[in-house]
Amino acid sequence: NVPAPPQVTAVSKVYMADLESALHYILRVELASHPTMEGEELQVLKDFVTLIAKLYPGGGPVVKLMERLSDWLNGLPLKQIAYQAVLDLLDNKMRTADAFLSPGLNWVGCRGSREGLRGYPCAFWTLFHVLTVQQHHKPQALANTGLAGARGVLTVMRGYMRHFFGCRQCGRHFDSASTTLTSVNSTGEQLLWLWHVHNQVNLRLAGSLSDDPGFPKRLWPDPSMCAPCHEEQAGARVWVREEVSRFLQRHYADDNLSSRTYT
Ligand code: FAD
Repeated sequence: NVPAPPQVTAVSKVYMADLESALHYILRVELASHPTMEGEELQVLKDFVTLIAKLYPGGGPVVKLMERLSDWLNGLPLKQIAYQAVLDLLDNKMRTADAFLSPGLNWVGCRGSREGLRGYPCAFWTLFHVLTVQQHHKPQALANTGLAGARGVLTVMRGYMRHFFGCRQCGRHFDSASTTLTSVNSTGEQLLWLWHVHNQVNLRLAGSLSDDPGFPKRLWPDPSMCAPCHEEQAGARVWVREEVSRFLQRHYADDNLSSRTYT
């Protein structure tokens, strides 16, 4: 018997404009505060660019540009690199009509109800949820990259949070949560791990200054988004992890990515 599909009543979209804006912010804003990169920082940059080259959805100009940058970074004989050199490659030397990353921020799903809310951190979470689902659906994509295995995406995310993410407090919290990463033994566990940790952050931040009143933080997905993800046991609400996994794989899948922009 084929199990019935989950009853998803109100699946919202995931927007390519948010993902691309996150990449713009990472590569042209956040990294710019690191004039030179070496050692672990340089490795995280290489791994991040490779991850995007291999797993960013939809192919297209972003992937082509990241493939070029990844080949260049991974063939680099130097132990240190200037950020300006990376930017020059990105914006001039490697940029062609079919390989580019549009400049600027265009938040759609991550647009806050006022300036200063949501935006980049929202799109950063979204990007990494998408990447965990991509790795689960394309287990061979990271073969021969040094990132193959059950925790490829989270290893890069942890490195990025530790070395580059502008909110240092966020980085510290994520680092503490990452002590449980060793329990992740499959790409299916990887996407659920990130969902669980994101919910812990949602709980911690609900009602705080960074909570957008138009998009209050809550345990996600709530029953209106995914009824089968929730169950009652002895009067308590519990998650049905298999259904959550199925929901994540639908919500963050290629089929649910919209190319709509905000005008
Ligand atoms: P976000 O929490 O950014 O979520 C973005 C979208 O993801 C939501 O709109 C929803 O569609 C989806 N989503 C929500 N929950 C889940 C889930 N569990 N699984 C899958 N998808 C989900 N801010 C602080 O003030 N203090 C912190 O310590 C802090 N730590 C952070 C740690 C990390 C790793 C990151 C990336 C961000 C952190 N932030 C922190 C920022 C904060 O988590 C939010 O990103 C920010 O406040 C914007 O919130 P948002 O309402 O746009 O929703």
